[in-house]
Amino acid sequence: MAFEGLTERLQNALSGLRRKGKVTDADLRETMREIRVALLEADVNFNVVKDFVRNVRERAAGAKVLDGLNPAQQIVSIVNEELTAMMGESDVPLNKSPKIPTVIMMVGLQGAGKTTTAGKLALKLKNEQNARPLMIAADVYRPAAIDQLKTLGEQIDVPVFEMGTDVNPREIVRQGMAKAAELKADYVFIDAAGRLQIDEALMQELVDVKEIAQPDEILLVVDAMTGQNAVETAEGFNGRLDITGVVLTKLDGDTRGGAALSIRAVTGKPIKFVGQGEKMTDLDIFYPDRMASRILG
Ligand code: GDP
Repeated sequence: MAFEGLTERLQNALSGLRRKGKVTDADLRETMREIRVALLEADVNFNVVKDFVRNVRERAAGAKVLDGLNPAQQIVSIVNEELTAMMGESDVPLNKSPKIPTVIMMVGLQGAGKTTTAGKLALKLKNEQNARPLMIAADVYRPAAIDQLKTLGEQIDVPVFEMGTDVNPREIVRQGMAKAAELKADYVFIDAAGRLQIDEALMQELVDVKEIAQPDEILLVVDAMTGQNAVETAEGFNGRLDITGVVLTKLDGDTRGGAALSIRAVTGKPIKFVGQGEKMTDLDIFYPDRMASRILG
């Protein structure tokens, strides 16, 4: 299960505190040391951990907390609040264009779950807002990607615009946008190309597609299981594309949690959704406070 190791270690660190009626500064320091190790072992970014520990210590070390009623409980609350803040305070909804269509460009490394997430989001909008999305198949390098998107489209009854793999993605997107206007689609999903690694050719293509499509939302899809690599990927994509949000996939797997806990703080961009399974309905809004509570167990 996701966060299992982290949850156990945080609980251990905090339960040591709970056993004491009175908490001394030395107790607090020891607890924070354990929490620091737990977060680093969960693959949370080093600087993010440093800031977190400093923030909790600053808030908890005051006489009001340590000499107050139930200091352990107060420290647990502070840890919970700071974990929430690390992940972004509150949920951030999908951007919406004042006029149709709202254009959502999906980017990410191959295998992260871009195509799947495009389908999940299209279905969600269809179910919740009666939306009429169009999906554009612009990942021409992974041969199966277009077929995969077409199959998904059939499954959720959403049209897919494609021109095969021989046309360049810029042209596909140009014509796809014209198709969206013709169909009066209110959402357009662009399933952009992914690669196994970030490279310059990919980034330039994505920059060009962004220029053509003028997306309202650039969602970076990252695999939560890849830990610090997910964070580096996010920094790379954000640096070139100025992404507007992140979708963290595979949170149903046994991720240690580092990506979920670091991406927001490192990139400044909100996690908007989490993927929690392979089914088309396995997509949830990301609520930092609920995630913090889940992590604390
Ligand atoms: P893309 O290359 O980024 O378009 O990745 P795909 O959408 O093809 O997804 C790669 C694999 O990850 C597929 O087998 C998906 O079913 C799977 N996948 C995507 N999202 C999730 C998720 O949230 N949980 C799980 N368990 N699998 C996922």
